[in-house]
Amino acid sequence: MRVDVLTTFPEMFEASPPGVLGVSIPSRALRDGRLEVVATNLREFSASKHRKTDDRPYGGGPGMVLTCQPVWDAVHAIEASDSVRPVRACTRIVMTPQGRMLSQEVVEELATKPRLLIIAGHYEGIDERVIDALKPMELSIGDYVLSGGELAGLVLIDAIARLLPGVLGDSQSSVQDSFSAEPQAGGERLLDCPHYTKPRDWMGRSVPDVLLSGDHQAIVRWRLEQKRTRTRERRG
Ligand code: SAM
Repeated sequence: MRVDVLTTFPEMFEASPPGVLGVSIPSRALRDGRLEVVATNLREFSASKHRKTDDRPYGGGPGMVLTCQPVWDAVHAIEASDSVRPVRACTRIVMTPQGRMLSQEVVEELATKPRLLIIAGHYEGIDERVIDALKPMELSIGDYVLSGGELAGLVLIDAIARLLPGVLGDSQSSVQDSFSAEPQAGGERLLDCPHYTKPRDWMGRSVPDVLLSGDHQAIVRWRLEQKRTRTRERRG
């Protein structure tokens, strides 16, 4: 999969020296060639003399707004270029606190696409007319406001990278994670169960007996029950 990012801070997507994409699972996905991330600087597409990408808002008020022209031109230039032929169709995404809430279901859907184009806003956001014209999917990572769409884009890339075939050592590990459709519960999306490792006793606390029983069926039943209880208690 290829992910293009349109941003005024492309350095935030550099893998080395270790940034978010240079460590752990995203770095493995990049190294194995299962994921390609290409960040493009919005400034390169500004037709203005000083490579301006923003301007003051009509109607007054604080902050700056990213202008239509560089966003429109950059999106079309990025979409026309690809590392393979024929060029892959891009799913356009704008990161915005006003978008659809990012969920594991949305991540799973996006992980099947051949190519994504993530547009990161900054300042007050992006001129609404270019969003209307591009008709992107609008995605939020939560009901709070970040300074820019770059961190939100990195969250999305990380969540997708771990679902790409072959990226996780054990493909079952993402299936068992929170919010994945649970095959033993009719596809319900449950929170994960608690996990334990050595030592068996720690500061007077023991690992639940069932996990030491060697009874595989009992362990499966216990884990499912824990998932249901946690989901009811924490998300009910
Ligand atoms: N004026 C906007 C509003 O109140 O809805 C907030 C703009 S925010 C300071 C600047 C940029 O950060 C946005 O254009 C968006 O790209 C990104 N951003 C901020 N919070 C976000 C969130 N929760 N999810 C996704 N993107 C976010």
